[in-house]
Amino acid sequence: MAEHESLEFGKADFVLMDNVCMEDFMANLKLRFEKGRIYSYIGEVVVSVNPYRAMNIYGRDAVEQYRNRELYERPPHLFAIADAAYKAMKRRNKDTCIVISGESGAGKTEASKYIMQYIAAITNPNQRAEVERVKNMLLKSNCVLEAFGNAKTNRNDNSSRFGKYMDINFDFKGDPIGGHISNYLLEKVRGPYAQGPSCSGALGCAKYYTTLSSINDGADFKAVADAMKVIGFTSEETLTAYKILATTLHLGNLTFGVDGDVILIQNPKVVSVIGELLSTPEDNVEKALLFRTVATGRDVIDKQHTAQEAGYGRDALAKAMYERLFCWIVGRINDVIEVKNYDARVHGKNTVIGVLDIYGFEIFQNNSFEQFCINYCNEKLQQLFIQLVLKQEQEEYQREGIPWKHIDYFNNQIIVDLVEQQHKGIFSVLDEACMNVGKVTDEVFLQGLNGKLAKHVHYTSRKVGRNRNLYSVVGFIDKNKDTLFQDFKRLLYNSSNPVFKAMWPEGKLRITEVTKRPLTAATLFKNSMISLVENLACKEPYYVRCIKPNDVKSPLLFEQERCRHQVEYLGLLENVRVRRAGFAYRQTYPRFLQRYKMISEFTWPNHDLPSDREAVKRLLQGCGFDHDVAYGKTKVFVRTPRTLFSLEAQRAD
Ligand code: ATP
Ligand code: MG
Repeated sequence: MAEHESLEFGKADFVLMDNVCMEDFMANLKLRFEKGRIYSYIGEVVVSVNPYRAMNIYGRDAVEQYRNRELYERPPHLFAIADAAYKAMKRRNKDTCIVISGESGAGKTEASKYIMQYIAAITNPNQRAEVERVKNMLLKSNCVLEAFGNAKTNRNDNSSRFGKYMDINFDFKGDPIGGHISNYLLEKVRGPYAQGPSCSGALGCAKYYTTLSSINDGADFKAVADAMKVIGFTSEETLTAYKILATTLHLGNLTFGVDGDVILIQNPKVVSVIGELLSTPEDNVEKALLFRTVATGRDVIDKQHTAQEAGYGRDALAKAMYERLFCWIVGRINDVIEVKNYDARVHGKNTVIGVLDIYGFEIFQNNSFEQFCINYCNEKLQQLFIQLVLKQEQEEYQREGIPWKHIDYFNNQIIVDLVEQQHKGIFSVLDEACMNVGKVTDEVFLQGLNGKLAKHVHYTSRKVGRNRNLYSVVGFIDKNKDTLFQDFKRLLYNSSNPVFKAMWPEGKLRITEVTKRPLTAATLFKNSMISLVENLACKEPYYVRCIKPNDVKSPLLFEQERCRHQVEYLGLLENVRVRRAGFAYRQTYPRFLQRYKMISEFTWPNHDLPSDREAVKRLLQGCGFDHDVAYGKTKVFVRTPRTLFSLEAQRAD
């Protein structure tokens, strides 16, 4: 419990709620928000509510307040969790990670930046030049990734279109010496097509992608250009990056028509602009847009698209170019921030803090492939959370010599399996449907699901419904196949601009050489999630759960219903239950005494018992709480919060 905070701000730690129920949870969250307490704990999990106003709680003085303190000594704060992760890493040589989740606009990216800012502030006291260089690179990389990867949406003016995991590597002194970034499904899942009719076609995409509003802004433009230069992009590369954004914009203006049975582009001028941007003859651009090279037996022929196919190809090209650009940028950043010249035999273990900024559960009126993937990702993270929290509890009890009692909770492994299992899982059925020759439609996919999963307790299928986690199969097949015609890859590879060539090496293949079917979007996503979770699982995790208080970006409004949904999707009540199932509170004997010794004559002002453990025992027996606690080797464990309230009350008397 955050010991210095008065109850007028509500309970700083939800574990101390009288009743674990949604009503009380919401009342406490609301009270704290209204009192300007945007952070709370569930044990060691930080719950954050987006304040939508500048808070004066991140300055140098705040850093000093949290530096090297224990979690419960100061009011709940991101800095406390960052410090805890850092301390664990430094003192105990542990790899740690901070998992930040929440829906769009909840404050994940801001949180990840404050965490990095904190870590930057408390490291490198000796101002070593190499460490300063690394820190600078890490911060600059944020700027570049945001410029190319964020966009204004109706939910967030600065929305990340990608999930990001960043490792920061530290040397034995605890100073950052490098890092690595992984990005998760940028456009593929969280793209314009997920956003409804306001954004159809590539023009919409381009608006999303480019954050042109910010790039147009002179100061920001310069900041991005500087950052790119510092990271080592050549001016030609930077220029090409902008050309790609421009191309996606122009692609959006392209329209197709038919004249008799010939397909044509209605605005050929656009094609010549695109040709210029791509350093490619415009005839080639036109041909790639209108025709598809197919191999029939030994012959290779040019097959004309229908207008619909051409439109599909155009949108796919815009998406693919943008995605490839982003991955390429991430790759270039990784090249410069990766740890160099570190010899573990000489310098000791190189430890890591990972920061994951990833979208939370999304449930809309209409849920499609995008939401399905995102929610699958969250189920996986939830599964990891359950396992790790329970595992940690179990290990702590063992360490402390306290008998383990089984904890009852909902294990969502069954849902994870439903999605990802080989052969029987939804992704497998989807891939199978995509592989069909002949009729490949969303309906065929649905029939496949109904055939295989009809009996599964967590699977239902119906035409329309307003059930919570219901997804429409419409579009699954196309989004999963995510085909980019080989013609486009060849077009880009054959550009006279070497940057394009480097980005599209597979364009080298001739049509007859392309045999391998590319992995589907679902499989790629599944694989990346599995490796992400494996990576997180071997680290000591810290969690930040972000909540968006309203949809109008107001600092004053706490929309009860809106927030309740998020608390539900984030599984926060479940969190509290898992946390409380064992012991709500634990503290080392000396610190417990420090806090409560005034309650008992045996311990005030000092005790003469053989150990602090004995003193705590005597104190608690005196209060009649002996039955509600367990005495470990170094810590006392309190089962119910009520006991703690009572101690707090007696202390105050
Ligand atoms: P997305 O999933 O769309 O990327 P997100 O969870 O990353 O969303 P942020 O971009 O971090 O959301 O936050 C959205 C906006 O909310 C910020 O641009 C900022 O205006 C405001 N905000 C978030 N956190 C804070 C904070 N701690 N203090 C002040 N304002 C904040
Ligand atoms: Mg974000």
